[in-house]
Amino acid sequence: MGRIVQKYGGSSVADAESIKRVARRIARTRADGHEVIIVISAMGDATAELMDLALKVSPNPKSRELDMLLTTGERQSAALLAMALADLGVEAVSYTGSQAGILTTPTHGNARIIDITPGRVVRSLEEGSVVIVAGFQGVAQTTKDVTTLGRGASDTTAVALASALGADHCEIYTDVDGVYTADPRIVPSARRITEIGYEEMMELAASGAKILHLRCVEYARRENVKVHVRSSFSDKPGTWVKPHDEVRKAGKMEEAIITGVAHDRSEAKITVIGVPDQVGAAASIFQVISDAGINIDMIVQNVSRLSDVKTDISFTLPMSDGRKGIEALEANKNKIGFDEVLYDDQIGNRRSRDAFPFGRDHHLLQGPGGRGRQPADDLHLRDPHLRGGQHRRGGPRRPRRPRRLRPGRRGGGRRLRRNGSLRGPGGRQDRPPGALLVGHSDRPIQRTATGVTS
Ligand code: ADP
Ligand code: ASP
Ligand code: MG
Repeated sequence: MGRIVQKYGGSSVADAESIKRVARRIARTRADGHEVIIVISAMGDATAELMDLALKVSPNPKSRELDMLLTTGERQSAALLAMALADLGVEAVSYTGSQAGILTTPTHGNARIIDITPGRVVRSLEEGSVVIVAGFQGVAQTTKDVTTLGRGASDTTAVALASALGADHCEIYTDVDGVYTADPRIVPSARRITEIGYEEMMELAASGAKILHLRCVEYARRENVKVHVRSSFSDKPGTWVKPHDEVRKAGKMEEAIITGVAHDRSEAKITVIGVPDQVGAAASIFQVISDAGINIDMIVQNVSRLSDVKTDISFTLPMSDGRKGIEALEANKNKIGFDEVLYDDQIGNRRSRDAFPFGRDHHLLQGPGGRGRQPADDLHLRDPHLRGGQHRRGGPRRPRRPRRLRPGRRGGGRRLRRNGSLRGPGGRQDRPPGALLVGHSDRPIQRTATGVTS
């Protein structure tokens, strides 16, 4: 008999019928003789809807009250699942994060788990119950207030509980059947990865592959918890996230050239046109941006025009900082001496971890001084990838609410293909995952080259 933690995401418990379906699945695991701890997310888009509701009531709600509100989503699904299990004759008890002993820092909205005292959970398991814990939440050790752990953090609750309870492994059930080489909803030809090391999974998660919450993978790595990411809609095996050396020893993973590609659509690009091509001009742009408290990500500088010895500089930044960035630059236009500023929020940031990222184009990595390539293992590539390719004069539109794209919901699948297909400005189709697109004739002057995130 084993002890298994199973986490079901919002997409797996979107309505009453799905809750009953999940309950049947849990009943089967219990009938196989395992001790089962369930971590459950809020139903469907419940968290986002509660957030919308809060903002309708108050434009600037206190984070403490927001946490009080948002934690109710998981509480609902936990109680409903316990009811569904009882109807199947399975003894089950639901707990809030606080009742389950999940102790956190006091930072509302993004608290971190600092300890787990799972006394009640263990007692219920000993009594033969399935234990259901509301994900994404805990209680601050110091203030005793209810906290949330950040969007998508039920994954982290699950791994933390698996570690605290000495579970055999942690199963993360979602709406795709594992971790793919790229988001399968964006790249239909993406392939499922059978096994992946913690470090590579951390990089994918850190780069925006939302299949797993980043802190969940960090936790799993630190505590050596094996994670099985799989679909709650089928019995197919999914992806095992485990120590890197075990992945290789098992010999199941090919010597991957590219492990995966993550997409991040939360960034925008600013292009400063007509910057004097002289020492210090670029620095003055980035000083202005830095003084505005904006973190930038990638910088690309065009080859200068011989006619007027001017150049264009593009950089990416969080979309939410777009307006601030434009305003800061416009306010310093005369001092810097550029012609105009363009804004583009139709980009996606794509990151790959890659041994031979450019294939035939590898000369692109050679810097002006003929520097060679970065050591393959140390390479971490990002490129701003144009989607609509439409530059806007006059800065950003009102920020858009991030779309949640799911098949069969609000026409998600179709809309995703239409709006999400990655096209360059000349109507150029997206390249296969891992192929690096260097936009237009831009000459890359800076690439992120970092080691494994840890
Ligand atoms: P849940 O509600 O189960 O927590 P999420 O929406 O958080 O599910 O995560 C699942 C989604 O992650 C998938 O529907 C898929 O679109 C997206 N995703 C992004 N990158 C990947 C990837 N590399 N492999 C698989 N899915 C991915
Ligand atoms: N319900 C929370 C969210 O939507 C937590 C989670 O689903 O993991 O972010
Ligand atoms: Mg999730």
